[in-house]
This record gives sequence, C-alpha cells and structure tokens, in this order.
Amino acid sequence: MKTTTQAVIIGGGVVGCSVLYHLTKLGWSDVMLLERSELTSGSTWHAAGGFHTLNGDTNMAALQGYTIRLYKELEEITGMSCGLHHVGGVTLADNKDRFDMLLAERAKHRYMGLDTHIVTPDEIAQIAPVTNIEGIVGGLYDPLDGHLDPSGTTHAYAKAARMGGAIIETHTMVRETRQRPDGTWDVVTDKGTIHTQHVVNAGGLWAREVAAMAGVYLPLHPMEHQYIVTDDVPEIMERDAEHPHVMDPAGESYLRQEGRGLCIGFYEQPCKPWAVDGTPWDFGHELLPDNLDKIEASIEFAYRRFPALERAGVKSVIHGPFTFAPDGNPLVGPVPGMPGYWSACGVMAGFSQGGGVGLMLAQWMTHGECERDVTAMDVARFGDWITPGYTRPKVIENYQKRFSVSYPNEELPAGRPFRTTPVHDVLDRMGAVWGAQFGLEVANYFAQGDEPRFETPSFRRSNAWEATAREVHAVRNGVGINEVQNFGKYLLTGSAARAWLDRIMAGRVPQPGRLSLTPMLSPAGRLLGDFTISCLSAEAFHLTASYGAQGVHMRWFQQHQADGVHIENISDRLTGFQIAGPKAREVLMACTRDSVGDMRFMDLRHACVGMADCTVQRVSYTGDQGYEIYCDPMAQRALWETLWTAGQPYGMRPFGMRAMMSLRLDKFFGSWGAEFSPDYTPGETGMDRFIAWSKDADFIGRNAAEAERSTCAARRLVAFEVDAHDAEAHGDEPVWLDGEVRGFVTSGGYSHHAGKSIALALIPRDMAQEGRVAQIEILGQMREAKLITQPLFDADNARMRG
Ligand SMILES: Cc1cc2nc3c(=O)[nH]c(=O)nc-3n(C[C@H](O)[C@H](O)[C@H](O)COP(=O)(O)OP(=O)(O)OC[C@H]3O[C@@H](n4cnc5c(N)ncnc54)[C@H](O)[C@@H]3O)c2cc1C
Repeated sequence: MKTTTQAVIIGGGVVGCSVLYHLTKLGWSDVMLLERSELTSGSTWHAAGGFHTLNGDTNMAALQGYTIRLYKELEEITGMSCGLHHVGGVTLADNKDRFDMLLAERAKHRYMGLDTHIVTPDEIAQIAPVTNIEGIVGGLYDPLDGHLDPSGTTHAYAKAARMGGAIIETHTMVRETRQRPDGTWDVVTDKGTIHTQHVVNAGGLWAREVAAMAGVYLPLHPMEHQYIVTDDVPEIMERDAEHPHVMDPAGESYLRQEGRGLCIGFYEQPCKPWAVDGTPWDFGHELLPDNLDKIEASIEFAYRRFPALERAGVKSVIHGPFTFAPDGNPLVGPVPGMPGYWSACGVMAGFSQGGGVGLMLAQWMTHGECERDVTAMDVARFGDWITPGYTRPKVIENYQKRFSVSYPNEELPAGRPFRTTPVHDVLDRMGAVWGAQFGLEVANYFAQGDEPRFETPSFRRSNAWEATAREVHAVRNGVGINEVQNFGKYLLTGSAARAWLDRIMAGRVPQPGRLSLTPMLSPAGRLLGDFTISCLSAEAFHLTASYGAQGVHMRWFQQHQADGVHIENISDRLTGFQIAGPKAREVLMACTRDSVGDMRFMDLRHACVGMADCTVQRVSYTGDQGYEIYCDPMAQRALWETLWTAGQPYGMRPFGMRAMMSLRLDKFFGSWGAEFSPDYTPGETGMDRFIAWSKDADFIGRNAAEAERSTCAARRLVAFEVDAHDAEAHGDEPVWLDGEVRGFVTSGGYSHHAGKSIALALIPRDMAQEGRVAQIEILGQMREAKLITQPLFDADNARMRG
C-alpha cells in the first residue's frame, strides 16, 4: 500500500466516493480512499436511492440539482449504469400552509432555473394515479425527481475517480489519525500508516468514531429508518410508463415504483435514534430487525392516500440507520482548529446531496473557497457549545419534521432553552417570546396582557404583528432596550494587531476611541463578514459581527494567524444592551457620571454605567440615535436595573428581534446571511462604500474587489416598496422586471414605522432606477413593487448621527 499521498478519504460510501471523484476532477490525482470493508458498507447499500431538489436553503437546492444532473455525466465517463429512473415526482399539499410552502418553493425555482410546476388535484390524479386526491389542495411537480441504484452509482463514482488517478483500498481499517507538528497527518490503518496533507472524514455511520480519533466531536447520530417494498400491484402493472414519485408530507411518506410494485418509506413520529453513544465497529452489511409497530399509524394513513397499497402484499422491509445533524443538513468543510482535517459527514440524503457535497469540499480543498455560499452545510455552523445532550433532541426533532412545513418565522422547540443570559428570567417575566440563535435564547418580541406567549408559525403576517409595531413605535418615539448578547465578538490584541486587521479587513481600521464598519473578503472578493471594528487602544480592538458566524469567522482568523497578534472569541464573555431612540442619550447620561453626552456617531468610550464597567459605542442597527453598552455578563443584571430604572421617565420599552428587523428596513440596512453572504460581493451589495481603497495594505480580496470596481458589478442591491396583502416577501421571491424574472429578494418585512411592506432585492444594475415598477411573486401572487432610494426614516441621518 502507498504510504504517502496528498489526501486520504476515510470511508467508501457514496459521499466518500463523490469527494474522491471531485478531487480528481479538480486536478488532484494523488488521492486515496480507505474503506474498512467493501464500498457501500455503511448506510449507502440499503438506501432507497431516491433523489429530489426540494430544500429550504437555496444553495442546498442548487447543489441537489447539480447532484442529479451529475449522474448522466458519471455514466458517460465510466460507461457504468447508475440505474437511473428519471420519473419525476409530485409533492402533495393537503392544506393552505403546505400549499403556501410549495408556492414559495416554486417561486424560488423560477430564478434558480428549475423547471417545477404547481399542479392541481386533477392533474395529480393524472400524473400519479395511485394517489387518492381527496383533501388535496395541490402539489408541486418536479421533473428532476427520480431514483437510482445506490450501489451502481457509488461504484460509478469510484470508477470515475480511479480513472482520474485515485487509489481505493478496501478492507483497510483506519484506526488512528495523528497530526504531526508541521500540520500534516499520519493515518494509521491495519495495513500500515499513510502520511498525508489532508484527511477527509467521510465515515458516514462511523463519522463520530472517526472524528474522535482526531479529538473532534461531530454533532450527529444515526436514526432508524424503514421502507417497505410491495409485491406486484395491478395498477402499476397496467401502466405503460413508470409511476412518478409521490411525497406526501401529511403522511410523512415518500412513494415510488419498484419493479412492478411500490416502495414506500416513512419519517414516522415515534422515531427511534440508533447507536446514540457510538456505532459498533462490528455493524456490517446488515439491516435492523423489522419494526412495523413503529410505522403502524403511518401505514394506515398511507392506505388512505394510496389505496392500492392496502391490497398489495409486503415483499420486503428495509430497516437501517443513517446519520443526521441537528438541522438535517450535512457537516462539510474544514474542521475549525484542525488544519488539514475535513468533514464530509452527516449527509442524510446521499443521493440527492452527495454530488454537491463532493464538489464543494473538493473546491474548498483545492482552491481554498467554494463557488457558492455553503453556510447551510458548513461544519463550523455549530459552535464549541454543542454537546451530545443537545444534538440528540434536535436530531429527533429534525427527523420528525422532515416533511413538515418550514415557516420563515418558526422557532423549533427541542433542546431549549439551553444557553441563556443572566437577564433571561427578567425578560421572561416581561413577556418575552423567545427565539434561538446559535443555541442562545433571544427575545423575538414581548407579549402583553393576555397575548399568547407563542408566535404562530406562518408565511403570512403572524400574531407578533401588534407587539412588533408597539416596540418599533417605542423606539422611534422614545427609547427601547434590547440585549446585545447575540453579536459575535472578538478581542484582538498585540503589537501587530492593526497591521493584521489592515490585511484581513477591506475597510479602514479606526483610531483609538473610534469605530468603523468593514467587509471581510475572501480571495475571490466574496463577502465573508460585515464587521464593526472598535479600537480600544493602540494595540487592542473589539470586532463585532454575526453571532451565528462565530465558528466560521474564528476558523478564518486562525487560518490567517500571524506573529504579534492574539485573537479570542469573547462572544459570550461580553454582553450588555443597546438603547435606541430619540431619548437614548438622555437615558445614558442619567446612568453615568462619565461624559457620554458629547459622544459622536461611531465614538467609543469606557464608562461606569451604574456600577458596571462598560464599553459604550455610539452606534445602532436600528438606524436611530443609539448606544451599544457592553459589560461583563456578571454585571448584566445590575446594568439592566440601572438602564431600566433610568429609562422609565422616558417611556423605555424592551424590544426584540422582530422589531429590530423592521427598524433596520427603514434604512435599508442589510443583514448577514440575507443581503450579505459569500454568494455576494461588495460591489453588488453596496458594501464597497466601506472599502478603504486608498489604504496602503494588500488586504485579502483586494485584486478581485478592484477588478469588480473597474467593471462595475452587474447586479445591485435595491429596496422596493411592495403592495403586499397579508404576507411580506421574506427572501428568495423572484422579482419580475419587464415581464421576466430578473432578480430575487434577499430579505423583506414590514416597516411599522412607515406603514409599508419592504423588500430588499438584487436586480440588474442597469434596471435599478428610482421609481421602477416590478412585480414580486409572493405566495403565488404577483404583487406590484416600486423601487425606492430614499430611506423611510431619517434619510439625512440627522438623528442617527446627531
Ligand atoms: C433505509 C434507508 C433509506 C434511505 N433512502 C435514501 C434515499 O432514498 N435517498 C437518499 O439520498 N438517501 C437515502 N438514505 C440515506 C443514505 O443512505 C445516506 O445519505 C448515505 O448512504 C450516506 O453515505 P455516506 O457515504 O455518508 O455514509 P456511509 O454509507 O455510512 O459510508 C461510510 C463508509 O465509511 C466506512 N468507514 C467508516 N469508518 C471507517 C474506518 N475507520 N476506516 C475505513 N472505513 C471506514 C464504512 O465502512 C462505510 O462504508 C437512506 C438511508 C436509509 C437507512
């Protein structure tokens, strides 16, 4: 066996083989895959082999589209059959909410170039005649849906990889992975040790055990899953063409033709985790014992939806385990703090996603970044706080909700509350309705009187409407207070800190006592972060950015670690509040003897607020006069008492994230993950105005940003006032201009201050003129929209800066 190679992939399931193939496709031929048994020996061999594009995340959906289209290419390259059945599929909706979700998906597919169709119940009866359409409102037909032969496909990936120079060693068990001081790796197997630059964990069912060999915890575990294959079914035998797939979310089932019978699988509510504490190494090419009791209710439901099933005998039951991460998406990318160690794990739909996962990981490994935003599957999207105790209820919840409607305002309950701040109970007593960000409880809004303490999940205006309006008005007319716990915060110190920042950040680095806003760019000029830099002293800075991006940002900082710089993630070691509104200054002045009244916009001061030592920043995402006041978490309760007591004569009210997202729309402020993400560039999003073009530093992404500046980005972020009815644009809705889909919404909502529905969207630059009329498709309806350029509040920034 070879003892040195550029990359070792551990695991010969569909995912490992896809990664191997894509590495060779992108030019790495000195790569090896190690498989402890035969290829496909984990979850892969017993998969039902179904594939589809439907995914709530646009990039995941696009990667699923890529995966499906790849199979033909694989067949052509290798001459092998993937056993493809491109039969199409229909997803059923039996109520308005499910149908709304399909309408939103269809709208999104328009600008993604996916050719799906909304179909009526009668059309469903035609397309998929085994379906009883009683109670069905409509469906979404996707011609790309289908199924394949899992084993043939995995072997096709493997053959294509071998053709590109890759080596595959089967019956080779990896026992240890050890990092050398120079960062390279020794992969110890039962047949010898291999020295390599890169290790890819594609261990599937054993991903946790393989990760533990490197001291890594991966948040995933297997769930049991069952599908049934029937004997021949007369309704199927009579057909000339193969029956399409039918996804029935109400019955939590997927159904397709298998031979001359049917095959149906279930995501049942009484689901069962499997091997939660570790997958046994002696689990081989085997199935779990049948457990039809577990799916009894699902089967009964299926008999009503697909009556032919009841008459058919059961030919076989396939019951096997496969892994899930807490949110059901894969765990892919460089493992933070572990150079050269990559994850390709937690892929719960290997035949829908395996190709996309392989492509993204191979791009990351060979080019340093991916061509699109992979946040939804980035292994760093969970932080150090994640534990097996949290993973377990979340994985169960995810399995149970696999076919549920996902609402834009939905807060999932499992594993909560987990991480809370010292004022959690204070805010709770005030009526806080909680959401969660990155495991942390965050107040979304405050219910009053007998208002319910639960926001109804909806695609339309929810029951949070009144409370959000109340909080917005409290900020705009008086003063509001909310926590700043949910910012990612970093402390940067050292003699080289300023020079390092000048290289890492594209914007200006401020002088002591001042703040600046800056994009952080990738080498290809994509947005990796939108940061506030606070200069505490000549050699100390605070950086503030999205709370959910902590893992991603720390990984980037560590990858660019330099001498004379020390960076720490202090996100949970620094907390506090922001106060905002026309009375904010007066409240702050009433709380401290230090001089804060003369602070200019973007100033920073140290002040003793009440009893708490604080860093006070004159800035607010509400776009109003405002201050962020940071303190040690131990002092947060005392700080609350001080600010809240001082705020009462000024009518201070607490406000939550729903109000915050409405307030920021008044000024068209973008938000991380919506307007700003690695899918976009500074020129497209207007972040270029924060780039310090004249600074004497070769910041990362400079060449790409300058190239974009010289040619002008082809699209531009703009704001629309939408003639909405009972639903706002949330994100991903297509924007029609001159009768064609020419753009899409990045985020939207209702400005309670202005009484207008607002959508931020990316459209062609040459179409971005004030007053231009567009149509935005919201839940299947074309809503008229007018492009506006004047912010809805404080257009001259007099209040924000004054
Ligand atoms: C009943 C059932 C039905 C399913 N139906 C579908 C479907 O219709 N469509 C779909 O897309 N997905 C389906 N899936 C899910 C699908 O099977 C998985 O997404 C996919 O198989 C994951 O592949 P993988 O390569 O990540 O992991 P695995 O298939 O588990 O592969 C991991 C490999 O790593 C090897 N390995 C582990 N540790 C070591 C080590 N130390 N040294 C060497 N080798 C090691 C293992 O032997 C194994 O071969 C289904 C799953 C089940 C259980």
